[in-house]
Amino acid sequence: MQTKLPFHVMAKPIGPICNLDCSYCFYLEKEELFEGKSNFRMDDDQLERYIQQYIEGQPANAPEISFAFQGGEPTLMGVAFFQKVIDLEKKYARSGVPIINALQTNATLLDDEWGVFLKKNDFLVGVSVDGPESIHDIHRYDKQGKGSFKDVMRGIEVLQKYKVDFNTLTVVHHDNADHAVEIYDFLKSIGSTFFQFIPIVEHDQILEAKNVQRPILPILQPDGKKIGVRSVHPDQWGQFLNNIFDRWLEKNDVGKIFVQHFDLMLGMVYGYPSSLCVHSETCGNAMALEHDGGLYSCDHYVSPEFHLGNIRDHTIAEMTESPQQKKFGDDKRDTLPQYCKKCDYLKYCWGACPKDRILKTPDGEEGLAYLCEGYMAFYKHTIPTFEKMSTVLRLKRPASDYINVEKIVAEQERRMITQQALQSGKKVGRNDPCLCGSDKKFKQCCGRPA
Ligand code: SF4
Ligand code: SF4
Repeated sequence: MQTKLPFHVMAKPIGPICNLDCSYCFYLEKEELFEGKSNFRMDDDQLERYIQQYIEGQPANAPEISFAFQGGEPTLMGVAFFQKVIDLEKKYARSGVPIINALQTNATLLDDEWGVFLKKNDFLVGVSVDGPESIHDIHRYDKQGKGSFKDVMRGIEVLQKYKVDFNTLTVVHHDNADHAVEIYDFLKSIGSTFFQFIPIVEHDQILEAKNVQRPILPILQPDGKKIGVRSVHPDQWGQFLNNIFDRWLEKNDVGKIFVQHFDLMLGMVYGYPSSLCVHSETCGNAMALEHDGGLYSCDHYVSPEFHLGNIRDHTIAEMTESPQQKKFGDDKRDTLPQYCKKCDYLKYCWGACPKDRILKTPDGEEGLAYLCEGYMAFYKHTIPTFEKMSTVLRLKRPASDYINVEKIVAEQERRMITQQALQSGKKVGRNDPCLCGSDKKFKQCCGRPA
């Protein structure tokens, strides 16, 4: 069976096991899901099923097939495991359809052997790093409580030495959200050109699951849910994105540095659908595969209620198209509060991720996104600029020309006037006054190549 639309799976070949012990990791406690288990490695049979089903289940017209490995820490599986991945991908590859591999890692275990392997097999590596040492080490430490920054930097040096493509994933939390400019400049300085920012929202379900006895942020609403102290505050999130955005413009980095939220916004303003589930109308085509072959509705919903089945018993394509998964994805739209449905920014936001819809709307309806205030501030601040970028892109100019949008639009209008005049039979010589009425010579005006 093949699905109608492409689907994506985040594979966790070593389940929740990690060599680090980052304070905000929502995945470490998933170990409790597999009670009494000590081996969290995906075995060869399950790996082969996964690769085969993932390739065979994608739609017939899939332009490429893209694998993503995450954890826990996937490099704990060792290079030999990933060599098997490559061998199996070759065994089941579809003729003429490229296969892409992405690995999300804390980078601390990367060495020369990894460098050679990742380069040879063209992996795109995502490195988790929260900022310079004093910021990164606040929450990202090892089992002994030692900050991991120096080990991460050593891993990045390996990637640079072997010229492996890498991007960065930065968790935005209460303690780094006020340092946007410092983080932006730092990520550039380590050679990242694609930044992903993930806001941390630790709500009471997560706190309960972790049995956490630690301070909580003030409850945002009188009868609202509790929020873990590490969570980014909604207004901090908006300010963080806006400060990153302003730095991006100030440094003339448009077209040189790519920020996931900005790419997403520009695409949507231009008219494309959202490329990120969180800001799509519905979701449900990005599942998580555990080391034992269990498939779950989403990386953020790895729990018994959202267990779709095991790849030993059903194919990934069958589970992707199951009524359970369809409902999971449709609920994102169907449970939106009226407040969101009437929001001016609905088409960009779609109420964000359902896991974070923990507030009440001003009129008392449940289900408002915790980060709503931040998103609104971000949209208000950035949409006018994204509209300018979109305008120049439509005129086949790079987005970085947004700064000259008025001039470019005026030039385009003049060229259209000239075009219409030429089509109606008017003649013009190179040194004649331009037909657009600009008082310039034709060769210096609309006669110039665009
Ligand atoms: S639940 Fe959230 S993270 Fe998961 S697929 Fe839906 S929008 Fe994405
Ligand atoms: S900005 Fe707020 S109100 Fe608007 S769609 Fe997003 S969460 Fe809903």
